Amino acid sequence: MITIHPVNKPQPAANPSAETPSAASPSKVIAVVNQKGGVGKTTTAINLAAAIALEGLRTLLIDCDPQANSTGGLGFARDEARLSIYDILLGHNTIAEALLPTEIDTLKLIPSSKNLIGATIELISLEGREYKLREALAPIRADYPFILLDCPPALDLLTLNALVASDGLLVPMQAEYFALEGISELMSTLDRVTQAFNPSLALEGVLLTMYDDRTNLSQQVNENLKSFFTDKLLKTSIPRNIRLAEAPSHGKPVALYDPRSRGAEAYRELALELLSRNNIASPEEKRRKAAAAAAASSLKSFTAPEKKNRFWKSNKEK
Ligand code: ATP
Ligand code: MG
Repeated sequence: MITIHPVNKPQPAANPSAETPSAASPSKVIAVVNQKGGVGKTTTAINLAAAIALEGLRTLLIDCDPQANSTGGLGFARDEARLSIYDILLGHNTIAEALLPTEIDTLKLIPSSKNLIGATIELISLEGREYKLREALAPIRADYPFILLDCPPALDLLTLNALVASDGLLVPMQAEYFALEGISELMSTLDRVTQAFNPSLALEGVLLTMYDDRTNLSQQVNENLKSFFTDKLLKTSIPRNIRLAEAPSHGKPVALYDPRSRGAEAYRELALELLSRNNIASPEEKRRKAAAAAAASSLKSFTAPEKKNRFWKSNKEK
């Protein structure tokens, strides 16, 4: 549970990096948050980041969870000596120094490490402890149209740093009877963070994960969430798909592990939905449309005269 101390609220002059991020740069920082465990935060962070990157946008995934599942899921074995988000939060290193390349050129990772468990305690005594990630992101924000933060299943100082650094909150929720349990706590945390630290933070969307539209329960939960969150419930939902569960053990996002799976398709659709909600054009979508238009027009010019010729030819040949 986050304890917010209004006395810690910094004055704008003392915190130059605390200005509205969206006004300062075109990038969008999204925290994938839900204090409930196992709802699909990491699966969403990895696969959404990969899907956005494959749309041709430079994307940064930051693993803010000491469990380091996003790090492992992208194929990086545990290595406590490697620079990680821990070193960044404590101000020992910059983001640029800790960046790791991935199999997708446009996707970079800031890994986590077990040390991060201790960061919560080490940060407590530091001035402006809630702003550490936000300050670290400031110099590189303009380089990445999308930055995704995979948060731990807790509303602790690590999650608070993620919320203070973000423009949007993406909340994965499992379609189950207790789906809304804990959501009021998350929403009131969002309110308090908005008031005390980051006025530009907003709910980006609620995402149904492990969804099975064949069950009445899933449909009922979907209806409940729709009436509760209205347009904040994202149109895309993520189906339960075994490929999504298998991909991390191969160290790959599902888009590389099995690009034709339902899981890969769902995360591609989610990426396009988020880009369109944010009025961000996808370079790949543009390319696909141009290729389809070129194919359609060449087909047209091929079918018209060629068909005729063939008809005459085949008649003559008869
Ligand atoms: P934690 O709170 O521990 O960080 P989390 O919210 O990040 O968990 P994940 O690790 O993404 O949740 O998912 C929990 C488990 O469910 C994992 O084993 C994952 O592979 C599996 N899983 C997640 N989404 C799906 C899906 N759509 N279909 C099938 N399995 C899924
Ligand atoms: Mg996780």
